[in-house]
Amino acid sequence: MERHESKAETNPFEAMVSRFNVAAEKLNLDEGLYQILLTADREISVAIPVQMDNGKLKVFKGYRVQHSLARGPAKGGIRYAADVTLEEIRALAAWMTWKCAVVNIPFGGAKGGIICDPSTLSMGELEKITRRYTASLIDVLGPERDVPAPDINTDEKVMAWIMDTYSMHVRHTVTAVVTGKPLDLGGSVGRREATGRGCKIVCDRAISRIGMRRETTRVIIQGFGNVGSMAARILYEAGYQIIGISDVHGGILNTLGINITKLFAYVQEAKTVVGFLGAEPIAGKELLEYPCDILLPAATENQITSQNADRIKARIICEGANGPTTAQADEILYDKKIFIIPDILANAGGVTVSYFEWVQDRQGYFWNLKTVNERLEEIMVNSFDTVAGYADRHGVNMRIAAYMLAIDRVAYTIRERGIYA
Ligand code: NAD
Repeated sequence: MERHESKAETNPFEAMVSRFNVAAEKLNLDEGLYQILLTADREISVAIPVQMDNGKLKVFKGYRVQHSLARGPAKGGIRYAADVTLEEIRALAAWMTWKCAVVNIPFGGAKGGIICDPSTLSMGELEKITRRYTASLIDVLGPERDVPAPDINTDEKVMAWIMDTYSMHVRHTVTAVVTGKPLDLGGSVGRREATGRGCKIVCDRAISRIGMRRETTRVIIQGFGNVGSMAARILYEAGYQIIGISDVHGGILNTLGINITKLFAYVQEAKTVVGFLGAEPIAGKELLEYPCDILLPAATENQITSQNADRIKARIICEGANGPTTAQADEILYDKKIFIIPDILANAGGVTVSYFEWVQDRQGYFWNLKTVNERLEEIMVNSFDTVAGYADRHGVNMRIAAYMLAIDRVAYTIRERGIYA
């Protein structure tokens, strides 16, 4: 049968397809389902004209890709970055489908992005861009259709603007149209730290599988944004030793352990981890290769590639970011017997609590933090154990097992629903 072949190592869509191919082969997936699962349901490109603060008009480009709606409304974040591409958004949308299926929540997958550099935009300009993008997508968004969430460079404030714009158009308040909202606008307690908390839960499972203890487990984290900083805080509070952290400006290292409480206070003022007095400076690239027990990439794609994979000295890689490891790097890491907790499992805590937020908004009944965290723990533990069980049963690594589980679940739904013609 004719199959899509992987080419460029750092092309995110190719990276997704190369893992998909292996899992599809193992599952003996039929040709028709293979084609359906690799083709996005809908890809939308919008022009976003905005009057800038200097009075001039500027046109930005935005995308929304809905990869699959088979298991429920599309779900996935929106990122604002200068290097956003349709290929990247397409890959991230598919990853959302697999991620929602791995944790077995009733969503399909989507992703959105706007090509812009938020650091050069005023708050007013960002708001106009967000509202115009939302208005352009009004027909395809909605609690039953497509529910965005924050991603790189988007936050609660951006979600509030989307929710308000959508609500203005449909003439009533619809909190469930986005997740990751501020608490008093229908957000969920525990959402902000959910991805980081999910990472900690799967790290707990992984170290107990290998027979390690938290207190002697040294962790290096790349990225100190939503995912990285929350993972750092929660792992630190649970007793792990965080010995290195980097952000886009550089890295810090303290082999005796970084005091994360003090680091948070420092970053609040400095807006970077660089310059923190409780650690030594180290280049971000060097930090990735520094010996540790858990390496937690929580920044962006393609950080571990065929160029540096053989120098990675971690025992476990917990992928907080989406797509931080290329397919070529995977092979090198597996040869080195590094245990990888793949992104579609490791960072699924975020979408899981997004699902809780959507459920709470639709019921108009809000849970307390204990309930949110307990339900998150239950889903993450079950998902880790199911993926690990799949890996053992089929003799594959954790990433391929997660893909197999996800593809199996989505394919099953499509088969049961049948094809409308
Ligand atoms: P963010 O914008 O809050 O933070 C990104 C962090 O990465 C920043 O600290 C930035 O300085 C740092 N960074 C960027 N390039 C770097 C580099 N080359 N080296 C070191 N640090 C670098 O973004 P986020 O929401 O934390 O998302 C991070 C990753 O996690 C992305 O891949 C995103 O898709 C994924 N993710 C996020 C969530 C979520 O709930 N926010 C959920 C699942 C997956």
